[in-house]
Amino acid sequence: NDRKKTVKDYIRTIVDFPHEGIMFRDVTTLFADPRGFRICIDQLLHPYAGERIDKVAGLEARGFIIGGAIAHQLSVGFVPIRKKGKLPGKTLSQDYKLEYGEAIMEVHDDAIQPGEKVLLVDDLLATGGTAEAGIKLIERMGGDIVGCAFIVDLPELGGRDKLASLGMDVHALCE
Ligand code: IMP
Repeated sequence: NDRKKTVKDYIRTIVDFPHEGIMFRDVTTLFADPRGFRICIDQLLHPYAGERIDKVAGLEARGFIIGGAIAHQLSVGFVPIRKKGKLPGKTLSQDYKLEYGEAIMEVHDDAIQPGEKVLLVDDLLATGGTAEAGIKLIERMGGDIVGCAFIVDLPELGGRDKLASLGMDVHALCE
């Protein structure tokens, strides 16, 4: 019975992607299912009912898909946090650690006004490095982060603890 399927049941695992030994959690099967996508967005929003949220910020690339849907649901604006070199206007940059080496995330420097309440979203929390870069960018603009919401948390990789140590409220739909 489809009614009983949880968000986790719609997520597919691809073995050895992007390289050997990795179990990639693929949320495209969740997004492709009309009920799956709806319950995913509803559940991501659930803890924030009644809270003031002025902007939703999404991390490239799957954070755009859920962030766009959430922002529309709340009737607020959406802010993309992108990999270096993609945004056309004046940006703030923040470096962060990857499994191998470093990378840079960017945001338009006028995307968030001081004091705005921001919800940060992405599909999956692993080490928390990507989310931490997003948090720093939002806070550098004076944004006040209401919470960080993810579809999947991989708790053994420590991301939740890292974000908690930064004072963040972390919400994830499954582990
Ligand atoms: P972190 O920076 O180590 O927390 O990695 C999280 C980032 O990597 C997010 O932007 C995710 O989209 C991506 N990511 C890492 N592993 C997976 C996975 O298994 N499925 C989907 N995305 C992943």
